Parts: sequence; C-alpha cells; structure tokens
Amino acid sequence: MIALMFGPPGSGKGTQASRVAVRLGIPHVAAGDMLRSEVERDTPLGREAKPIMDKGGLVPDDLVVRMIESRIDAPDAAKGVLLDGFPRTVPQAVALDSMLQKRSDRVAWVVALEVPDDELKVRILKRATTEGRSDDTAEGLAQRLVVYRQDTAPVLDHYRTSGTRIVAINGVGDIDAITQRIMQALSHDGAAVRTA
Ligand code: ADP
Repeated sequence: MIALMFGPPGSGKGTQASRVAVRLGIPHVAAGDMLRSEVERDTPLGREAKPIMDKGGLVPDDLVVRMIESRIDAPDAAKGVLLDGFPRTVPQAVALDSMLQKRSDRVAWVVALEVPDDELKVRILKRATTEGRSDDTAEGLAQRLVVYRQDTAPVLDHYRTSGTRIVAINGVGDIDAITQRIMQALSHDGAAVRTA
C-alpha cells in the first residue's frame, strides 16, 4: 500500500506520518529527512540540495524522483510505504503515478493535514530554537509557504481529479488526538487500511 501524508511545512506531517506508519506496519519515507541525510553525508545530491533547501526552494524533480524510486524498491518497502514530503509538485506526482503503474500499484489514499498559516509560523519558529534546522528561519519559512501554495497545493487537486481517496484532517490540537483522528478516519474505509 502506497499512501501519502500531505500538508504545509510545519503542519506536523513528519510527526504524524511516523506514528501512522508504525500503526500500519509500513516504513515512513520522508523526502526531507532523506535529503538532509544526503547533505549530512556530503554526497553529490546533498551538495546540490543544501543551498536550495536553505533558501526554502525545491530540489529539482528528477533528483528527488530518482531518490524516492530507489527507496520504494528497497526490500522493506515491499508491503508499501507512507510517503511524507513527496510528491511536492505535480510533475513529481505524475512520475510517482507512472512508477507505481509499472508495479501494478497506485496511491491508496492521501491524508491532508490542515493548519492555519499563523499556527504554522509559530510552530516553525519554535522548532528553530530546538532542532536548529538551517531552513527554519523567518525568511526560509515565508519562502516555503509561497512554494507550498504555488507548487505543492496543486498536487492535492491532481489526486482529487484522479479519484484518489483524500482524507482531510484538522492538524491543530494534541499530537495524540490528531493521530487518533487520522486512524479513525482511515478505519472508516476498512478496505483501505488494516492496522498492524
Ligand atoms: P517542511 O515540510 O517542514 O518544509 P521537509 O523536511 O518536508 O520540511 O522539507 C524540507 C526541504 O527539503 C524543503 O523545503 C525542500 O527544499 C526539500 N524537499 C523535501 N521534499 C522535497 C521534494 N519532494 N521535492 C523537492 N524538494 C524537497
């Protein structure tokens, strides 16, 4: 089962995706974490990605698509994955659809976390003081929100148009309560989710 956790920067998609993936018994694949690991290991991809990520831009589609495709082919992904931070552009979504089609698979569902902009700003600036991510600055966030509206929000329309199940979840509140909301919403469609 290939599923997506979708939402703006600071919506908590990483936190929720890791919890939901454990409950579903599939790996959590976070594009941003994979890219940060490339940067840390100073790989050619990491060297190309770092200045773009620091400014709040998007790493070129072909690089990210290749990175995700090889991750999906790893043995531990045989039962599926929960993707977080990918696809982030419509061309990435089209590339994902065709890589899944080759494997006779498709995106099963999308969880879309909804959080107002004001709350996103508060969360990211707070995270800046604890995690020290180099893109968690006021300017980096502003740019990421612009990119989200412009390039990433249309990904949801892409899946809406193709008839993929989209579950909108209020992402404001207690972390446990939000996980509960997601699991409850998913279990309403017993065919789509079998909890581990
Ligand atoms: P957030 O959602 O809080 O911005 P992420 O860890 O998901 O954090 O992403 C951090 C950065 O990594 C993005 O701003 C972007 O530069 C890069 N990135 C992550 N996923 C992708 C992707 N699918 N395509 C291009 N760039 C990406």
